[in-house]
Parts: sequence; structure tokens; C-alpha cells
Amino acid sequence: MPALFSHCLKPSVSVKEMLSSYDHLWQPRLTAAASQDLAHLSTLLQNFQLSAEQDSRSLTFQTNQNTFSCSKLYGILNSRPTCCSNWKFVWKNKAPPRVQFFAWLLAKDRLPMRVNLKKKNITPSDVCEICKIAPETAEHLFLHCSVAKAFWDLTHANPNIPSMKALNLIQPPSCIPSEQYKCFYLLCFWRIWKHRNEVVFQNLLPCTTRLLKACKEESSTWSFRLNDSARSSTDAWRNIFTSALLPSLSAAS
Ligand SMILES: [Zn+2]
Repeated sequence: MPALFSHCLKPSVSVKEMLSSYDHLWQPRLTAAASQDLAHLSTLLQNFQLSAEQDSRSLTFQTNQNTFSCSKLYGILNSRPTCCSNWKFVWKNKAPPRVQFFAWLLAKDRLPMRVNLKKKNITPSDVCEICKIAPETAEHLFLHCSVAKAFWDLTHANPNIPSMKALNLIQPPSCIPSEQYKCFYLLCFWRIWKHRNEVVFQNLLPCTTRLLKACKEESSTWSFRLNDSARSSTDAWRNIFTSALLPSLSAAS
């Protein structure tokens, strides 16, 4: 209930205190979405009662002596590859950590796409801000929207996947070295997302040329993070973006 939570005056209130009286917990005026959440919450709490028993708290990654164990936590983190096919694509990748985290949310469909926001009553419309035609799902924004489609056509690197939850199905395109191709795709998705946010939050016009230029600049920045052999891959990426920019540059001249 993010809409309601954003109106909460005491985010760390206990459940007991909350149950006794929760009217004083909120901003004096709630938005329509927050009011709906509050009504929903009241319904959920109607039949809920706390027991008088002592709370019992435990960690999954604790030792038998009830102390925190780094090795158990490390084991849990490293066991993740078996539970998600995208794990390796996202985390065994030379992209900056913030971009890996973004890609993880993307693969889990946890980005604030307008379709997801509408479901939560945060926005009234789910229509894509770039093309103003289709609902903004992750697949639409990153694969099929007008700017994304032009981007993939110009770079000849269409990921050819049915869903953004299937990043692991992306194959190395012929136009770049297969080494670091996953990093290349994370860069492209990251910049498509940043381009979308420029349109939504900065009122910039959708523009494939601006997106390609940003990808080219980002390739240069990322090259400093990579070792010598991996760095040569970013030269190929820059060439792809430069070639893709040529039609728009010749049209401008
Ligand atoms: Zn669109």
C-alpha cells in the first residue's frame, strides 16, 4: 500500500499501537488512492487479533546459538542462481551495481512501469508517455515502443526475447564481440529507462538520436571499469552506436 504509506506520520509504529488506534497515524488529508488503501486496510484488520504470547524472532541465516552467521548468509546469497534463470545474466556482469540492481528489478517486473502503478492506484492512466498509444509494460517500453524499436533496428542488436523476464534467453548479437554482450544489453536497457524518465519527469521529447548518443557516452564511462580485454568490447559498442547515429546526422546536414 505505497500510496497510504506515503501519508504515514509514524512509519515504524508497532502493530499493537496501530490496532489500538490508527486514525492519528496519517496526514490530515489523504489522496483518493490513499483513502482506498485505508479502507482496504481497515477491512483486513477487522478480523485480526494479536495473541498475548511472547514474540518469537529468528533469522534464516543464524547459527544454532542464535547468533548472526556471515557464512550462512553468504551460502543463501550464492544459492540464488538455482532459483532464478536471470540471476547469472544480471549479477555475473561487469555493469555498475546500480545498473545490475535496475536490471534485477526489470527481470522481476518490479520497475515502476505505468501498468504497475495503475494497478496500485498511483496513476490514473497506464498509457506509455513516449508513444501515447499502448499500455506501458516492460515489454512495450524496452522492446516495442517507437523509440525502442528504432533503437534496436538501428543498432542491429534486437534482443529477440518474448518477455523482459527472460533476459537469460538473449543471445550474443553478431555486431559486437560475444565477450561482455550481457553488459552491453544492460547498458542499452539502462539508457532506454533513463530516456523514458527524461520524457516523463523532464518533459523532454522522445528522441532515438539522444538515446544513441547517451549510450555512446555511457560506453566510454563504463570502459574505465573494465580490464584491458573487456575494454576492447566497449570500442565495438561505441562503433555500433556511432554507425546507428549516421542516418540521423546525415539527415541533419
Ligand atoms: Zn510507447
